[in-house]
This record gives sequence, structure tokens and C-alpha cells, in this order.
Amino acid sequence: MGLHCNDKEQLVTESIAGEIYDQNADQMVITNTENSSSNEGQSDDHLSIDTTDKNSAEEDAYNEWKMRHPSALNKFDKMMSIAKEKKLVVFLDYDGTLSPIVDDPDRAFMSDSMRSAVSKVAQYFPTCIVSGRRRDKVYDFVRLNELYYVGSHGMDIMAPLKCSKNASSSFHEKAIDENGNEVVVFQPAQEFLPIIEEIFDELEEQTKEIPGIMIENNKFCVSVHFRRVDEEYWGVLEEQVVEIANKYPSLHLTRGRKVIEIRPSIKWDKGRALEYLLDTLGFANDGDAIPVYIGDDRTDEDAFKVLRNRGEGYPIIVSSIPKDTKASYSLRDPSEVMSFLSLLFKWKRSSSVDWE
Ligand SMILES: [Mg+2]
Repeated sequence: MGLHCNDKEQLVTESIAGEIYDQNADQMVITNTENSSSNEGQSDDHLSIDTTDKNSAEEDAYNEWKMRHPSALNKFDKMMSIAKEKKLVVFLDYDGTLSPIVDDPDRAFMSDSMRSAVSKVAQYFPTCIVSGRRRDKVYDFVRLNELYYVGSHGMDIMAPLKCSKNASSSFHEKAIDENGNEVVVFQPAQEFLPIIEEIFDELEEQTKEIPGIMIENNKFCVSVHFRRVDEEYWGVLEEQVVEIANKYPSLHLTRGRKVIEIRPSIKWDKGRALEYLLDTLGFANDGDAIPVYIGDDRTDEDAFKVLRNRGEGYPIIVSSIPKDTKASYSLRDPSEVMSFLSLLFKWKRSSSVDWE
């Protein structure tokens, strides 16, 4: 079962993120109980040695991984040394990058200080939020007008009209955003909208007996969140989701952090959205751009790959454990992301060279 295999890794991820479940804490309790029964009086020592060894082994593994994916904070000066003459473009995933991972996806709020850091960066650089969520939901969390918003894993892009000079495609539509500003909306998977609605209704109906389940309509994909579902239901849930997905050959399943998603099978993802924004909206195909992409999810790997293939920019993964990734650099958690954004702002403010 995909759910079970993937989840071991995820538990560790989440425990270190400190948001969900502390697997290590459980292990410590077990060790402690065993020691208490057989080695009375020594249990504290054993516990501290076991835990210390485990922690230092994890730290060693993380440090070894960081040799290959160095901290973007430590390498900041080096990264920016070649950026002075170029156009920096900033791409930010939302969940787990700007906000902590939380039990209830509707409460994944970003802090005011993070919002301020993003806003400051956007004063100097085109800044895009790239998320798997619905575009309007991401906007509700971030609430900054000056940004580009990419929702539904790249299938729903909104850009300020003034920046879309090269835009010309049958998928483009002019629209008015929530604040009355003229924008351009690009939706390459528009034809799937009715099917997604249908699947959403069906999933809600089929899984309504499963406690803690949350089905989210992300407009161009349906997300099944099982973060709050007891493990005993995971097998049944997976079967139900797979069964429904199988009825729609033009869609497919993907898996993220405690979430399964049903998505249109079109060649479009966060990586394609990144290319679209860079190339079509006029940021660059002249080699002058330096895209910085920061994300923590498997779906962000598509964007990391694009940067690798283009041979430009900085793919940065947010992770507090070693992870297989195409990213070149790393940041440990959202607080380090905030530090990086603050450095970026201060670097630009003190620099006399304008990106334009
Ligand atoms: Mg994420």
C-alpha cells in the first residue's frame, strides 16, 4: 500500500517539523519502560545514551546530506555574487515553506512576520506563490496584492496585467481580481473543471464514514487529506480513492504529505508553471534571469528539475531531514526561509544595481 510505505518517512518529517506527531518521543517512552523493569536505577542513563546516540546519528546524516545540499543561508553571499547583473525572480511554495504543516489544512496560516518578509522581497523582485491549493485559497492566506499566484499545482496562474506583455494563448483570459485589479489568468486544464466537480462530490459521498477525512476541492485537482484519519482506515480509504480515480482515465493519482490527489493527466505541473512564468510573461529567455525556487514538497521537484535543465537559478529545498532531491541548496524549516527572504531584501536594499 502506497500509504503505508510513504508514511514512515513522513512521520519522521513531521515529527522534526514539530507539528504533528513525535515518533521519537514514543520510542523514548518504550525504551524507558523496558529499562525501568529490568535495570532499575539505570534507566535514565540508558535513556539518555540511546536518545543522544540516535539524535547525533540523525544530525550526522543531516549534516552529511547538507554537504550535497548546502544551506542557502551559509551560501547566500556566493549565490548573490553572480546575481547583481541579473533579474532575480522569486518562487515560493506555500505549505511547509511559508507556513508550518498543521493538522487542519484550513488553518495553515502564515505569520505576520513571514508575510512582511515576503512583501519586502516583492518590493524588489517579481515574486510568485506556487501551491497545490486553489489559487483563491492561497491568496486568502497570503493576502498580498503585488504577487503572482499559481494554484492547483501550476494549473491556475494569475499574473498582474502589466507584466503579461508576451502572453498570447487560447487559455489566457483577462479577469478582475478580488481587489478590482486587471489580471491575466492562465488555466491550461480548463476542460477538466466539470469532471473535478463530479469527482469531488463522489469522494465526499464515498468517504463520509471515515472519521477525520477531509476532501478538498482545489479546482483543478481534488485532495484527500488523511492527516487526521486513524491508520486503521488508510487501507480502505486508499481503495476507495483508487476505485474512483480508475473510472476517469483522463486523470491520475499523486501523493504528497498525508494527502492523495486526483489530477488531470496533462503535461502540466509546478515546473511547467515556472517555465511559463519565466518565458511567456517576459521575465526571461535571454539567460538574464535568476529564478530562486523554494519548496518542500515532492511536487516542487518538478520545478527543481526545470531549473537544473535550464542551468540557471537556485532550487532550494525546505527539509529538516535528508531527502532525495534535485535541489542544490537547502533550508531547514520556514523560519530559515524567513531568514533567507530577509537576507534577500537587505542585500537588494544595500545594492545600488537595480534588477530592471
Ligand atoms: Mg509544500
